[in-house]
Amino acid sequence: MIDWKNQIDSNVAVLLKRAADCQIELGTSDLVINQKNVALKKSELSKRWMTLKKNKKEITEEIKSEIKTETSIEISKYRSLTGHNKAICECQKCSLGATRTKFVYGAGNPKAEVMFVGEAPGRDEDLSGEPFIGRAGQLLDKILAAIDFSRDKQVYIANILKCRPPNNRDPQPNEMATCMPYLREQIRLIKPKIICALGRIAAQALLDTQIPLGKLRGSWHEFENTPLIVTYHPAALLRFQKYKKDCWEDIQKLKAKYDILKQE
Ligand code: SF4
Repeated sequence: MIDWKNQIDSNVAVLLKRAADCQIELGTSDLVINQKNVALKKSELSKRWMTLKKNKKEITEEIKSEIKTETSIEISKYRSLTGHNKAICECQKCSLGATRTKFVYGAGNPKAEVMFVGEAPGRDEDLSGEPFIGRAGQLLDKILAAIDFSRDKQVYIANILKCRPPNNRDPQPNEMATCMPYLREQIRLIKPKIICALGRIAAQALLDTQIPLGKLRGSWHEFENTPLIVTYHPAALLRFQKYKKDCWEDIQKLKAKYDILKQE
């Protein structure tokens, strides 16, 4: 009797076994190894791979949302902006704590419907402890007045950082990451209907993106389910007059949305 086991090359034997397994899995009754069955197996494997990838994404999103919930539980122990301010105003979590003159928490109506967020205090703000009070702040007040808004009624103003970076340099990623939970808590307490990010740095930090400001402008985004619009920082408007027209368009868009949300 011929010993077929020893006659078949071991590689061929492995391939034949795999092909047979494939056919059994596919449920074909006859053992037919042909191109059609191989293609069927490939498409089935590809479908399985897509399902695995989708499940992996869903699981990752689930974990992310759990982390977010846990974080918000951890920082949501404040009942008012005053209590929160009091608890964090001595913060030294990053190096800016050592160089600031005053901690700049934020200002405006604690129940404001619109929240403006800039990047960090400047020289005037660092000296006074109030956000947006220099020339840029005065321009912001004029913009607000043009849509019948004022700081103490419809608006609350804050920054990503609560302390001034030396010489008004750009905030560093580690400083923003350390300070961001404070802004999140402010937003949670105020519950604005709309957020307006003033300038590239604030917009990119709030939206967790590197997309340039020019591309973020002109459409609505969301920050934790709150509609968010992006426009130029008033300091940029002081330097570049050409941005004023675009900024005015953004602000009118904001006002139109505000009017709609007020009616709901
Ligand atoms: S910038 Fe923010 S994290 Fe850094 S010391 Fe000031 S409050 Fe604390």
